[in-house]
Amino acid sequence: MNVETDTLVIGGGLAGLAAANCAASHGGRVLVLEAGPQASYLCNSRLSMGFINVAMNDIEAGRDSMLRDIDAATRGHADPALADALASHAQAALRWLRDEGVTIIKGGWRPSNRAMLAPPSGIGPGLNWPGRGGDVMLRTLEARLCARGGELQRGVRARELVMSDGACRGAVAELDGRRIAIQARNVVIADGGYQANPELMRRHVTAHPEKVLMRNALTGRGDGLAMATAAGAATTGMGGFYGHVQSRDALRNPRLWPYPTVDVPISGGLVVTSGGQRFCDEGLGGVYVANAIARLDDPLDATAIFDHRCWMTRAPEFPLPANPLLVHAGATIHAADDLATLAARAGIDATGLAITVAAFNEALAAGRPEGLSPPRTPGALRPLPVLDGPFYAVPLVAGVTYTTGGLAIDGLGRVKAEGGGLIAGLYAAGSCTGGHEGGPACGYTGGLGKALTFGYLAGRHIAGANAPG
Ligand SMILES: Cc1cc2nc3c(=O)[nH]c(=O)nc-3n(C[C@H](O)[C@H](O)[C@H](O)COP(=O)(O)OP(=O)(O)OC[C@H]3O[C@@H](n4cnc5c(N)ncnc54)[C@H](O)[C@@H]3O)c2cc1C
Repeated sequence: MNVETDTLVIGGGLAGLAAANCAASHGGRVLVLEAGPQASYLCNSRLSMGFINVAMNDIEAGRDSMLRDIDAATRGHADPALADALASHAQAALRWLRDEGVTIIKGGWRPSNRAMLAPPSGIGPGLNWPGRGGDVMLRTLEARLCARGGELQRGVRARELVMSDGACRGAVAELDGRRIAIQARNVVIADGGYQANPELMRRHVTAHPEKVLMRNALTGRGDGLAMATAAGAATTGMGGFYGHVQSRDALRNPRLWPYPTVDVPISGGLVVTSGGQRFCDEGLGGVYVANAIARLDDPLDATAIFDHRCWMTRAPEFPLPANPLLVHAGATIHAADDLATLAARAGIDATGLAITVAAFNEALAAGRPEGLSPPRTPGALRPLPVLDGPFYAVPLVAGVTYTTGGLAIDGLGRVKAEGGGLIAGLYAAGSCTGGHEGGPACGYTGGLGKALTFGYLAGRHIAGANAPG
């Protein structure tokens, strides 16, 4: 079967539907292929909590302020052209999303929470997406696309790009075992990353993909990465992911993911192996610690340690707090009045733990946590000494939301070629692209903000390219 269109979009998440609508707004024919067959096909956009920010800053804070925060989060690691494009256009992209009929509300007092998709997701543990912000947004954007004469085809999985003289001219896809060839002047890859592809995860992220938690829709299988690299696309920033530190029980208890996470208690305490040793700088936050856990020889050998003060004063923070949600959702939390008993209960070497905790407490008392090995930067939330019993131990797992490396793009979402230059006719947006995030501190600049802004930029560029005259 052969089909012809002006713009072909691979993936019906926020990045794909933003690109599709912007491309269709000047009258071009647009076809979106979506692998999920269901009416409410799963994707990370649909599961998201709905906070739209840029590097945890207010998305309407202004270009310079956002650029500073992208730089700080990624420690200068973000591609300057992508950082500039995000900071310069995120606010206009959000305005566009509102104009499409998507309701954005104030989700809290923190800058990161000021823009939120409505209605807000619930405050209980486990997945809670039907009728919530991400779900409503995708239905709204699909309806807008149809009103513009575009089309979203469900259950169609793109497999291969069609190339001609170095330019992308369409894709080959599968529908119920049948092969469909689609000719297009432009193709946008927006398939959501490669986190759900164990082979690619093993190659780039962790030697043990079976020992990390997929806190995502399981729809980012790296198809876009595979087909674009086969066509000569360049990649960048491979090796990291955005995610959170979760209770290890989340591997078998669905009420323990995507929330609550253990990020906040860790910000007050420490993380050790079964030998009782620290192995990473907990002060760099949950995304960094989750990456460090995933890189351990055994990613299921990490336990959070903190004391009663941390549990009572720090763990109740955040809209979906570890205290009490970990308890309500049935997470294992070992507790004991002394560290030796805690170590025995949690399967940790008691001597190793005692030495580590003593060194941690001494460094905090001396005001020099950075002097520890590995160092402990004070972080956004200051560390608390492990002094007041009862003491707690929570077995951990690294939770992966989406991979942060991927296709190399320019500030308009155009895909770069391995040998230099751009691949004509090929764009990418959202979690399948790299160069925005990562770096030594595993900096996060916002999954929805990135998907929205680069989908918007790619679609508008295509609309301009397709516009008559
Ligand atoms: C639980 C959770 C909470 C989150 N909360 C937030 C938040 O509050 N704020 C924030 O900024 N970010 C959040 N995120 C991250 C954010 O949701 C993502 O970064 C963003 O939605 C990615 O959008 P996308 O369009 O790139 O990918 P997706 O939304 O995943 O869409 C990709 C689509 O492509 C389809 N697809 C894949 N392969 C193919 C193929 N071969 N052919 C056709 N279709 C294909 C998939 O089925 C999927 O529908 C959260 C994520 C999760 C999982």
